[in-house]
Amino acid sequence: MRCEELLKLLNEYVDGAAAPGTCEEFEKHLAGCNPCQVVVDNIRKTITLYREGQPYELPARFRERLHSILRRRWEEKLGPGRGRARRPS
Ligand SMILES: [Zn+2]
Repeated sequence: MRCEELLKLLNEYVDGAAAPGTCEEFEKHLAGCNPCQVVVDNIRKTITLYREGQPYELPARFRERLHSILRRRWEEKLGPGRGRARRPS
């Protein structure tokens, strides 16, 4: 699994379609990738905080904000453009 695949899974997680932490590939990548650890930690905390005061559903506006936060963090950690297509050289 690569960083961008993990990020995609995270987006699905925010949408309620996947559950990171139960996926072996996800955990394997996470164990060796600090930028992803930071992002996953952040998203889990954010969701937990949000759910404490709310029922389960995450409104679209919240998801959009979360996604843009994730993208920004990604670029801070990996540099602009690094989160997307990474060609084998
Ligand atoms: Zn990664």
